[in-house]
Amino acid sequence: MMNEKQVDLKQAALIGVNWIPCSGSNTLKVFNPASGELLGTVPKLSEEQVRYAITTAERAFNSWRKTSINERCAVLNNWYQKIKENEERLASIITLEQGKPFAEALGEVRYAASYVKWYAQPALQDNGSAMPNGSEGESLKTITEPVGVCAAITPWNFPAAMLTRKVAPALAVGCSMIIKPAPETPFTALALSELALLAGVPPGMINVVTGDAQLIGDTVCTSKQVKKLSFTGSTAVGRHLMRACASTVKRLSLELGGNAPFIVCSDADIDKAVEGAMQSKFRNAGQTCVCANAFYVHDSLYDRFASAFEKRIKALSLGLGGDPHTDIGPLINERALEKVEALVRDAREKGGKIVYGGERWAESERWYLPTLITEATTDMRCVQEEVFGPVAPLVRYSDEDSLIASLRAQDTGLAAYFYSESLKRIHDLAAELEVGMVGVNTGVISDPAMPFGGVKSSGLGREGGRQGITEYLETKYIKLCY
Ligand code: ADP
Repeated sequence: MMNEKQVDLKQAALIGVNWIPCSGSNTLKVFNPASGELLGTVPKLSEEQVRYAITTAERAFNSWRKTSINERCAVLNNWYQKIKENEERLASIITLEQGKPFAEALGEVRYAASYVKWYAQPALQDNGSAMPNGSEGESLKTITEPVGVCAAITPWNFPAAMLTRKVAPALAVGCSMIIKPAPETPFTALALSELALLAGVPPGMINVVTGDAQLIGDTVCTSKQVKKLSFTGSTAVGRHLMRACASTVKRLSLELGGNAPFIVCSDADIDKAVEGAMQSKFRNAGQTCVCANAFYVHDSLYDRFASAFEKRIKALSLGLGGDPHTDIGPLINERALEKVEALVRDAREKGGKIVYGGERWAESERWYLPTLITEATTDMRCVQEEVFGPVAPLVRYSDEDSLIASLRAQDTGLAAYFYSESLKRIHDLAAELEVGMVGVNTGVISDPAMPFGGVKSSGLGREGGRQGITEYLETKYIKLCY
């Protein structure tokens, strides 16, 4: 981790080639979540400036869309190289503004870069098809075209990866981007965008608008020039944006709240399940959308699983992201801490046993202790809602069919995890769980080559894989008579 002073933060918005500096007090303040110190500011753009960014993006799109796939992919490869060359600096920025341990931040930068590399492959792009069923004298074919100017609204928990996952496929097919980073973590987005310009991404293809979320959201959602919105964040904001996009019938990709169940079946390998539980629950202090939320553990191995899990949880070390021994950093802000506190209080009141943790860290109130709650029940808020913190509730179950039925009844359907050594059960459960992604005997599922996304209220569309490309393409059917 670099020294704070060595990390240069770009305190500006980006429109075309122009870095828009902060002026006066009309700024957004960005704080270090570990210390509460002010890291810097970014401007609060006016509606007029956001509109200007959209027009700039439209102009850039109109020439970039005519470039060849090879040319676009070469630029993406350059961007990938620049990200790799600057990975430590980028990771330091993530740790500074987001709080996660430096090793995790570096992992995120590499993961973010892997999307750029993946989408730099020309062979991923399937440019339509010809149908053989036209009569003589006619040809039926389809071509694909970039949708146009796109907007990306990204969250603070993965400020680099959530950006490249949207921007790389967009650029690969020729779309330009208006990026609105989360107010907590704009500096990662700005650093990545600066590298994109250095890599040869033409000015205007990437624009970073900072400021009032509502104003920017309303402006891009109601703009006829913006053809698509890709959003990652909370379900409530996703619903709001979906409504706002209705006026222009905009294309949408939404990656919303998760509440992933983690099931430990009666025939699970307990050691492997505990390992997966640790990775899935405590990465980024529990602040990931695919985090295991509640654990459903079969009665026959509940106590053994709970005690092995407790041992591992107790060994987690809390600290600053820059300290190489740190496993758990601070939560993003006071609102997040208060939510975790409320959910744990509710669990306690409803009979949950706090085996470990259950409060803020004595050394700093910006951290929440990794927490294990046994005898958790499905009426508890920490089971029903996404905790987004380092809290693991363990629900005991004995009848698998009724467990699966109750999970299928949940509104959310992003990811699910389960551990089993039986081939039949693996096959059946993977089919029955109503989610977009399933981890079987693993707590980590993301891969740039594979589609990431959810069903039901967890969202629309997929990012990553081949599917991630089609989100930025329109299909045009051409019937030609000759
Ligand atoms: P969280 O509560 O975890 O911060 P949000 O869904 O509020 O999740 O935030 C995700 C992203 O959505 C952030 O970039 C945030 O600024 C943005 N956002 C929040 N409210 C709005 C809104 N009304 N319009 C547009 N973007 C919004």
